[in-house]
Amino acid sequence: MSRHFDLLCIGGGSGGVATANRAGSYGAKVGLIEMGRLGGTCVNVGCVPKKIMWTAAQFAHAFEDAAGYGFSVPSHRLDWKKLKAGRDDYVARMNAAYERYLGSNKVEIVRGRAAFNGPRSVTVNGETITADHVVIATGGHPLVPDIPGAGLGITSDGYFELEEQPARLAVIGAGYVAVEIGGLMHALGSELSLFLRRDHFLHSFDGMLRDALMDEMRANGVTMVTRVTPTALEQDADGLWVVAGEDRHGPFDCVLWAIGRRPNTATLNLPATGVEVAADGVIPVDAWQQTNVAGVYAIGDLIGHHQLTPVAIAAGRRLADRLFDGQTGRKLDYENIPTVIFSHPPIGTVGMTEDEAVAHFGDAVRVYETKFTPMLHGLSGRAQKMHMKLVVMGAEEKIVGCHAIGPGADEMLQGFAVAVRMGATKRNFDDTVAIHPTVAEEMVTMKVARAGKASQ
Ligand SMILES: Cc1cc2nc3c(=O)[nH]c(=O)nc-3n(C[C@H](O)[C@H](O)[C@H](O)COP(=O)(O)OP(=O)(O)OC[C@H]3O[C@@H](n4cnc5c(N)ncnc54)[C@H](O)[C@@H]3O)c2cc1C
Repeated sequence: MSRHFDLLCIGGGSGGVATANRAGSYGAKVGLIEMGRLGGTCVNVGCVPKKIMWTAAQFAHAFEDAAGYGFSVPSHRLDWKKLKAGRDDYVARMNAAYERYLGSNKVEIVRGRAAFNGPRSVTVNGETITADHVVIATGGHPLVPDIPGAGLGITSDGYFELEEQPARLAVIGAGYVAVEIGGLMHALGSELSLFLRRDHFLHSFDGMLRDALMDEMRANGVTMVTRVTPTALEQDADGLWVVAGEDRHGPFDCVLWAIGRRPNTATLNLPATGVEVAADGVIPVDAWQQTNVAGVYAIGDLIGHHQLTPVAIAAGRRLADRLFDGQTGRKLDYENIPTVIFSHPPIGTVGMTEDEAVAHFGDAVRVYETKFTPMLHGLSGRAQKMHMKLVVMGAEEKIVGCHAIGPGADEMLQGFAVAVRMGATKRNFDDTVAIHPTVAEEMVTMKVARAGKASQ
């Protein structure tokens, strides 16, 4: 048996599903191969279940904060099993919705693991499937280090299977997955030790965001174990131990590896296509998502940068617009992509960090900054500050970076990202009437904090 499609998407995650649906909506004959659950990382073991856990953690904080507003808050306890069951059910509903939506766009779903047997030809369940255009969107998987006992720990995938809440949790890693899962578990009542190879986490983020979050987490009782590279995990009757040379840290009930991810490209038999793949499994593409082989494209996490669901979706939809709707110039602009860290409190950020801007524009950079207690905490008693920063450039003060950490920063940033993308200046922000009383209003009333010589 063999089938031929106009477009074949390998991987039914954020990127593959979006590309397939958009192409299907234009009337293209589309096939989509998925070996696991529809929705991929984001729906099953990423954004969606993580956001549900973060929301639960926000409730934990809200209970504490409510007392300052006069509520007698009854003692409360998290029913982990109930939360997990509700979360799993929500994810299952999304899996079904994805299937329905693909069906409504007449996308043929093929269940199984795909491997190439030619440039635009794959084998799945013994069947050969060919296509005029092939999109590789197989995402990535979490890394586990090659050290003794590493298997005693779990990854973010395993985290979403936990049937009990670990009382003592160690998270190893400095990226957003470590910060988010560690942070929400701490808010939900787990004791958290965060193991960092250097002094800080979130290395690619603006220093203000990083420092504010580290201070906040430390003040709330998170143990930061800095400058440690684990050499083994061990288990005894007391629990799990993180070993680093002569030092042993623990005991813990759970150790979570959050040390990065690797593209799912090793088992695709890419040599059969001639598609170039880097040593770290990343597939290089040009600005059009095109690999080095005509008619074979790659989108999403496996291209090695901007590993976010809306990025994979946007790249896939634009590719389909170009291939099947004649929108010849359509491609994703990877500049100024906003992102949020669902930490406690959350971070919202778009554009250049202060350091990046100074490295790029030198003393033409000027920085506006503010730090204040949000009105929410005027009564809650929580010692949590809001921090905001605008990085501007040149005589017209074009905004090249916009950063915030504090309550509401997650929802606030989308609108500011539109403004930054449109080339807004500080004057445009100043001329926008504030919405009072909100935390967001401070974004349009900020005072200068530092200025390079050329901008003074
Ligand atoms: C814990 C966590 C939290 C996250 N939170 C956020 C967030 O809040 N916001 C955000 O924007 N992003 C978040 N992300 C990132 C986001 O999930 C990814 O950027 C996104 O899922 C990438 O989409 P993709 O299509 O590239 O790959 P994926 O979604 O991973 O999909 C790839 C699919 O391909 C399938 N597949 C792999 N190999 C084969 C094969 N050989 N044959 C058939 N099928 C195959 C897999 O089963 C999978 O379903 C998070 C990630 C993690 C791990």
